[in-house]
Amino acid sequence: MQINWKNELNRKGRRVVLSNQPVAMHCHHYNINLQKTLEDTLGEEGVRLLYQAAEEASFDGFQTLFSQHKKLKTTESKLEFAADIYQNCGLGIIRFQETDSRGGQIISPAGHHVTGWLAKHGMRKTPGCHFSRGWIAGVLEVIYDHPPGYYSVKELACKMMRNETCVFQVTEKLKRKRKLKT
Ligand SMILES: [Zn+2]
Repeated sequence: MQINWKNELNRKGRRVVLSNQPVAMHCHHYNINLQKTLEDTLGEEGVRLLYQAAEEASFDGFQTLFSQHKKLKTTESKLEFAADIYQNCGLGIIRFQETDSRGGQIISPAGHHVTGWLAKHGMRKTPGCHFSRGWIAGVLEVIYDHPPGYYSVKELACKMMRNETCVFQVTEKLKRKRKLKT
């Protein structure tokens, strides 16, 4: 489905809106300082906060966006739309390679947080795309009709560690818990 981005991405007074939803715009200085501060001061808890905030924002945002674009009926068209939104919001390039309701694998050959982190702090020893992990969880939960928190998204390779691409693995969190009980 073709989206007319000139109509969708607009200004209303001082606000930038995407399909009538206000959008917060931050440069890499803000976003990377926020991430580094959270990681340095709170450690794993800071990472979890960043992931969950991105997941909730992505979930709520895409629920609204899909309700406004009812012509997007197939999973493929919704995934394509989500990747377009990611790119048009300046977050980077994301490819939903193999996904279904149970999860899958996603790669990102370029990302805002990657470029920002490498520019400010150089190579990391651990994967660092926590925002993208949360964003992926939220959008897939909407597309596959699951509640927020349904998926766990891990980053198997990260360009912040000088891997070739970022690779995200999506699994079902709830099912894993159920399996552990049996
Ligand atoms: Zn990464």
